[in-house]
Amino acid sequence: MADDDPFAEKRRRLLGEIEQDARDTAFWTGRKAFSDRTMDAMAAVPRHAFVRDEDEVVAYVNRPQPIGHGQTISQPYIVALMTDMLDLTGTEKVLEIGTGSGYQAAVLSHVAGQVFTIEIVESLGLAAEKRLKALGYANVQVRVGDGYLGWPEQAPFDAIMVTAAPEKIPEALIRQLRPGGRMIVPIGRAHDRQTLTLVVKSMDGKVTIESVLPVAFVPMVNKSPPN
Ligand code: SAH
Repeated sequence: MADDDPFAEKRRRLLGEIEQDARDTAFWTGRKAFSDRTMDAMAAVPRHAFVRDEDEVVAYVNRPQPIGHGQTISQPYIVALMTDMLDLTGTEKVLEIGTGSGYQAAVLSHVAGQVFTIEIVESLGLAAEKRLKALGYANVQVRVGDGYLGWPEQAPFDAIMVTAAPEKIPEALIRQLRPGGRMIVPIGRAHDRQTLTLVVKSMDGKVTIESVLPVAFVPMVNKSPPN
């Protein structure tokens, strides 16, 4: 971002708050700081370009924000945490479920090789696709569809991030995760607290599951809500 970016100071302050949250939650997450790659990505993405015009002034508050259709763009700290938990090095093929505004996909695009993201609400998916293109995120592909099915034509994925909460880990996503891959997903009932869960698939295909943090996400729905 250029020095004359009017949001630069707010973004810098937000990074400090994310670092503080990381320290405060280290007991649960096992990470008292996030990697430079994660923090650089958080510093690079213009979050104000992903919220509604009237919410631009609060874009860098460390809170979720509404994006229409009853959906929300996640809290910046949660975006950073989920990104960090995937341990990406820059070359990976990543699948995101729940494109929403496209913000998380933009963050992932800085830390991965290719990002594939699926949104079930058509108007949100199309708007995110347009926004990401306008901002120059060339390594992100958006699909309007049902995330429970994953993206079989592009599988396997080195990492998967689910940003809406299913009640249990979708089978198709486990299948589409490469051996050695990691998935981060909030698991739990709708309109309740969920548990952010790390799923690791070993090289021989064995799946292990680890609870990371209590979180609150919108539900991962089974069919498209009305547009
Ligand atoms: N990652 C987004 C925020 C996600 S909010 C961002 O950075 O802005 C959760 C999103 O998941 C919503 O947009 C919702 O419509 C979508 N969603 C819910 N169920 C889904 C499903 N089955 N498949 C794909 N997307 C889904």
